[in-house]
Formats: sequence, C-alpha cells, structure tokens
Amino acid sequence: MQIHANSKERRGILIGRMQPLHNGHIQVIKDTFKEVDELIIGIGSTQISHTLENPFTAGERTLMVKKSLTEEGIEGDKYYIIPITDIMNNAMWVSHVEMLTPYFNKVFSGNPLVQQLFTEAGYELNVPVLFNRKLLSGTKIRDLMINDGGWEDLVPKSTAMIIKKINGVERLKHIYR
Ligand code: NAD
Repeated sequence: MQIHANSKERRGILIGRMQPLHNGHIQVIKDTFKEVDELIIGIGSTQISHTLENPFTAGERTLMVKKSLTEEGIEGDKYYIIPITDIMNNAMWVSHVEMLTPYFNKVFSGNPLVQQLFTEAGYELNVPVLFNRKLLSGTKIRDLMINDGGWEDLVPKSTAMIIKKINGVERLKHIYR
C-alpha cells in the first residue's frame, strides 16, 4: 500500500478496459462518489486495440470516458483518467498501478484477479453491484455491434457518437471477418 495514503483523503480507483464504456460502468462510477471524493479511472490494457475483445484504442476509450462523464454532469476535478498498460507480472501489477496514479485508499472492482491483487497488497476493496449484466457487458455489446443488434442504448450518447465517428462498428465487423 502506498505510504501517502491516509483516511482523510477519500480517493478511489476503478480500472477497466472499457471496450467500450457502457452504462454499467457509468452507474458504478456514479455510485463510487457516495464513498470517495475523487476517483481515479484507470484505462486498462492500453497497449491493445483492433482485436475482437479490445477493438478501441486507449485514446478512443479516454475520449469515451471524458465526454460521457461530462454528459452525466460529473465535473472534471472529481476524477483522473489514467492509461495503464498491462505488464507480464501479476505480482508486480499493483506497484505498477501505484507508480502511474495519484495515491488512493479504496479499490472498486468486480474483476476477481484485480480484487485478489489489491487485497493482497492491503487495500480496502469495494465490490460494486453489477447492473443488468446480461446486457451491460463489453462482450455482449461487441457481439451486438457485430450482429447489427441494438447496442446504442447500452452506452452513453457521447460514447455512441464517438464509436460512430471512428467507424467503430465497421472496424469490429472487419476484424471479425
Ligand atoms: P471491464 O471494463 O470489463 O470492467 C471494469 C469494471 O467495471 C469491473 O471491475 C466491474 O466492477 C465494472 N462493471 C462492468 N460491467 C458492469 C455492470 N454491468 N454493472 C456494474 N459494474 C460493471 O474491465 P476489466 O477487464 O475488469 O479491467 C481490468 C484491467 O486490469 C484489464 O485491463 C486487465 O488487463 C488489467 N490487469 C492487468 C494485470 C497485469 O497487467 N498483470 C493484472 C490484473 C489486471
């Protein structure tokens, strides 16, 4: 655990691949502000893009988060968006995250590996409720995109606009083919 972390400052972290950002992520992000004053939003796996599981670049995902949080009325001084590249060593990953981010004292994650690594490092863990997981999952939304299903209502309007602007659905379909 980082030495600067103290209980007076309530800063949390949520790390996600956001492939793409969806309404489940937004709901969790909003809920975290009941528990923290500032949130670090880590964009995970920044080195990967243009694959079926990770079609969007780190920059595109950063834009999705920024524009969508503005759309939600969440002010920019409440959060930090930090790109986090994967490393080959899980045991070192928390230190890697700590090096890249302002210090924090609460971790929000529904991902078992992320939960395990931060718990072992001594962090307070908060496991968010999953909202409408049947539809609000990156896997489901990418599947709908490939099969011309109704994905747009599952993501914030700003994120849908960015995906259209970058021809994201066509990119995904092309990779799929
Ligand atoms: P994700 O975008 O799938 O999910 C991020 C978070 O959003 C989850 O923890 C979950 O709490 C929340 N969420 C998702 N859907 C939700 C819903 N419907 N309702 C409510 N909450 C919802 O991202 P992820 O795959 O969990 O991201 C973890 C990142 O950490 C990855 O980039 C992974 O590579 C990285 N990581 C890297 C290492 C390493 O480099 N060695 C180790 C561990 C993790």
